[in-house]
Amino acid sequence: ALPLGELDPEIATALQAELHRQQSTLEMIASENFAPAAVMEAQGSVLTNKYAEGYPGRRYYGGCAHVDVVERLAIARVKELFGAEAANVQPHSGAQANAAAMFALLKPGDTILGLDLAHGGHLTHGMRLNYSGRLYDVVPYHVRESDLRIDMDEVERLALAHRPKMIVAGWSAYPRQLDFAAFRRIADQVGAYLLVDMAHFAGLVAAGLHPNPVPYADVVTTTTHKTLGGPRGGVILSRADLAKKINSAVFPGQQGGPLEHVIAAKAVAFKVAAGEEFRERQQRTLHGARILAGRLLSDDVAEAGITVLTGGTEVHLVLVDLRHSALDGRQAEDRLHRVGITVNRNAVPFDPRPPMVSSGLRIGTPALATRGFGETEFREVADIIAEVLKGDRADDELRARVGKLAAAFPLYAHLKGAEA
Ligand code: PLP
Repeated sequence: ALPLGELDPEIATALQAELHRQQSTLEMIASENFAPAAVMEAQGSVLTNKYAEGYPGRRYYGGCAHVDVVERLAIARVKELFGAEAANVQPHSGAQANAAAMFALLKPGDTILGLDLAHGGHLTHGMRLNYSGRLYDVVPYHVRESDLRIDMDEVERLALAHRPKMIVAGWSAYPRQLDFAAFRRIADQVGAYLLVDMAHFAGLVAAGLHPNPVPYADVVTTTTHKTLGGPRGGVILSRADLAKKINSAVFPGQQGGPLEHVIAAKAVAFKVAAGEEFRERQQRTLHGARILAGRLLSDDVAEAGITVLTGGTEVHLVLVDLRHSALDGRQAEDRLHRVGITVNRNAVPFDPRPPMVSSGLRIGTPALATRGFGETEFREVADIIAEVLKGDRADDELRARVGKLAAAFPLYAHLKGAEA
C-alpha cells in the first residue's frame, strides 16, 4: 500500500510536473479541458479492477451489480442530455466510437463521404492511413475556397455521383456550425446513413447553445473530454432501431471489457453538463472565442498579414490564418508556448506550407472558461496572443501577463502543485 511517490517516484515526479504545467500555463488547445475533481475521483476508483464484458443485466462476468448501476446511470443521463433514443457509453475514445459506428452500419469497401482532413475533418472520417481510409472507399468533401465554408453543393454533387452508404458530418478544425438539415436531405436523396461526429461541440449542444444533431442523424458520436469536459472517452448515440447493431459493434465487434471507471466518470460529467453552471461556462467559452476572433481581426494584426478563417467563429475555437504572414504555424505555436500559452498549429484549407509546418493555429477557449475566465480575462489573453503574433513585444513582459492570469485562476487547488 505504498503511495505513488514512494512506489514509483519517476512517474510521481512526472505527474507533479504536469500538474504544475497545467496550473501555471494557459491551456488553449481547442480539444482539451479540465475535468472536475469529482470526475477524476470516479475515474481513479476501484471500478478499474472490474471486468464487465457485455451490457447492464447481460454480462459475461459475475459481480457486476454495482457497475451495472453506474453504466445504467451513464446511459440514462446521456440520452436525456441530448434527447437520444439509445446510447452506448463504452467506446474507449472518439476514434473507437467512430470505428464501432461504421463497423455497425457499413461493410468493408462501402463508400463514405467525409470532410477532408486538410479542410478540418478528423482522421477517422476517411484519412488514408486511418482504419476509415483503409476499410472504406472514401470520397472527401471540402470547404469552398471563396469563403472557407463547407460547400454543401459539392456534398450533394458527390453524394449523387458516388451514392455513399454513409455521410459523415463533423470536424476537428472548423469554426462554424454545420447545417444538419441539409446533410439529412442529401443523405435521404441517396439512401445514406448520416453520422454526425459532434466530438468538438458536444458541450455546446448539451448547453443548448449549438444546434443538436440528434434529431437529424442516424448516429451521433462524440468524445466526452473536449467541450463536454469529462474524462477521455467516447459515446455513440443512435436511433432505437440501430441500438442492437451498434452495441454489438462496440462489444464484441471492437472492444473487450469496458472501462467502467471511465464510464463512472462519464456519468458524473453528464450530470455536471445538465446543470446551469455548465451552461454558463459554455456561454463564456463562446464569448471568449468571439472576443479572440475580434481581437485577431483588428487592424494592427491584419497589418502583419494575419487573419481569422471565415472571418470569425460560431463555436469554441478560432482558426488563425497565417497563409499571408511571414510567420508560419510552427513558429507561431512556439512563440505562444514560450510565453506560456499552449495551442496547436494546424493546416488550413489550401495551405501552401507542408502539414508539419502549416499556416494555421487552432486556438480554443473551453479550458480557460472552465478555469473561470470571463470577458475581462479573455480580452487580456486575446491581446497577449495578438501581441505574440505581431512579435514586437518582449517575451518576458508577455510571460508575466500570462503568469498573472494563471495565478488569478487557481486550478486543482486541492492538489499539491509542484514547482517544475
Ligand atoms: N472525432 C473528432 C471530430 C475529433 O476531433 C476527435 C479528436 O480529436 C476524435 C473524433 C477522436 O477522439 P479520440 O482522440 O478520443 O480518439
